[in-house]
Amino acid sequence: MSRSGRITRIAGPVVGATGLASARLNDVVLVGHLRLVGEVIRLAGELATIQVYEETSGLRVGEPVWNTSRPLVATLGPGLLGRVYDGLQRPLPVLAGLSGHFIERGLEAPALPAEVHWPFTPSVTIGDWVEPGQVLGTVPESATITHRILVPPGVSGRVVAIESGDFTVEETVAVVEPADNGHAGQAKLTLCHQWPVRRPRPVLERLVPREPLLTGTRIIDTLFPVARGGAAIIPGGFGTGKTVTEQSLARWADADVVVYVGCGERGNEMTEVLEEFPRLEDPRTGAPLMERTVLIANTSNMPVAAREASIYMGMTIAEYYRDMGYDVLLLADSTSRWGEALREISGRLEEMPGEEGYPAYLAARLAEFYERASRVRCPVPQNEGTDGKVDSPDRSGSITIVGAVSPPGGDFSEPMTQNSMRVAGAFWALDYDLSRRRHFPAINWTRSYSLYNLKSWYAREVAADWNELAGRAMALLQREVELLEIVQLVGPDALAESERAELAAARMLREDFLQQSAADEIDRYCPVEKAYWMLVVILTFYALMQKAPAGGVALERITGLAVVDEIARLKEVPPEQMAAHAQALLERIRTAFAGLGIS
Ligand code: ADP
Ligand code: MG
Repeated sequence: MSRSGRITRIAGPVVGATGLASARLNDVVLVGHLRLVGEVIRLAGELATIQVYEETSGLRVGEPVWNTSRPLVATLGPGLLGRVYDGLQRPLPVLAGLSGHFIERGLEAPALPAEVHWPFTPSVTIGDWVEPGQVLGTVPESATITHRILVPPGVSGRVVAIESGDFTVEETVAVVEPADNGHAGQAKLTLCHQWPVRRPRPVLERLVPREPLLTGTRIIDTLFPVARGGAAIIPGGFGTGKTVTEQSLARWADADVVVYVGCGERGNEMTEVLEEFPRLEDPRTGAPLMERTVLIANTSNMPVAAREASIYMGMTIAEYYRDMGYDVLLLADSTSRWGEALREISGRLEEMPGEEGYPAYLAARLAEFYERASRVRCPVPQNEGTDGKVDSPDRSGSITIVGAVSPPGGDFSEPMTQNSMRVAGAFWALDYDLSRRRHFPAINWTRSYSLYNLKSWYAREVAADWNELAGRAMALLQREVELLEIVQLVGPDALAESERAELAAARMLREDFLQQSAADEIDRYCPVEKAYWMLVVILTFYALMQKAPAGGVALERITGLAVVDEIARLKEVPPEQMAAHAQALLERIRTAFAGLGIS
């Protein structure tokens, strides 16, 4: 490290310094005698402006600042899964007082365990030509995830040495020599490499997202699905269920790897995750959930600037597993705390404020972030054969982003919600009224939407009539809104019997299908096959009920049928029993209606 500069000014998390040797934008610097980690965010002549990722109290003007002359990087290699990091990728001692000062300032800690020897099996041999992103070999990282050691971006050439056996992340496992470059250009590759977090990792090719990322939450999977490789936002006021939704997704979503960024929210929410996850199983594999999870904790008591670091750190780790060919889910709770940090730093820099005091570049920052959601082609691993398919699951990887947004007062017209909406394809609008009425998840079905066209996937993979059923359900919910408006205007007597039947069916759909408690042992996770049968039953009942007025049967006789209770209890049916259970119930429903002369 070269000669140090001096602190000239301290304003909260923002520090000015002069005399920093050859500083460049986004260089990581060490600030003061405590060597607090910071990043150069503006350069003007001699003056470098630094945002400090650690608490700056006690720092004094005149203290030294050192330039590390490198950007903030993520260290990528085996040992990431199951770990809890802060935004600078320092491992946090698990559970150790996430509500307090859990890490001493200026502390350095290796991101990956240095002492572990990972069994490395090469996938290439001497003489092979390798390109960035290609699999050099594999390491079993957890029970379910094989860690593919990739040729890092920027490295290509002929393999001149390759090892097999047990290695730490720092030992050389392969040597690659670029063409005609001799020894000078040789690259010694280890099990890990570093990547600057602000720069998206390069990809071979972006693929169109065309499958849903199934979440186990009925309203999402049925009405507003997010694509694998797409992005969704969950805006909602305080207490409407953002955190519960993010945590349900972390548990049940159909992803290989989950990166959960706790950004500026209460520390106890992270503690909950840490306490609960080790006890939970991945519904797909039965392995402990932590084995597919990386947690980045940046709680409300931590310095604001670190929120940004935590968001980018999480994203870079997500991209790394994507590049291995995995489907990754990146969860951020809450992106608004990041936005507030941007606003605070921008204010300290005395930049020209944009809307509501946010910096003018807020929209661009958010767009850049959500654009890192992606489905990409991965290079074909040499030892896994070439079957001509570039698109099979092990040849592509994805990042799906789900960002919580916390608009003050639940008002979606504010800049964070508006700018996030513009770049995310799915919008799950949490509703204060619904949450107050304990309708959970409080996702408002008239305001939410999904722009992803996943119809052919559902028709092929779930049921040929899935899209028709989902469409009828949505139409019924919209019809309910119209009818309730009429009731508001002219009273319930204005409704025809058939319209009252529609209202009864819509209510059934809301209560027995859309409502789903994250706390219920069985219902907290609903596979689409189960959701399908629930829809079939409810919509069959509705179709029969619509025939009642013509048959001269009073609606009350139908809503009083014993099968109505059974429909309400479909949620309790274990998924594997659902198909048989639903078919038997459909029989009972038909019999009950036949008893009233309706068929
Ligand atoms: P937010 O993060 O938006 O402030 P939370 O996610 O903490 O809100 O939710 C607040 C409360 O609402 C939870 O403690 C829980 O009681 C209830 N809740 C939210 N979503 C659900 C759900 N899907 N199922 C059951 N309860 C829920
Ligand atoms: Mg919350």
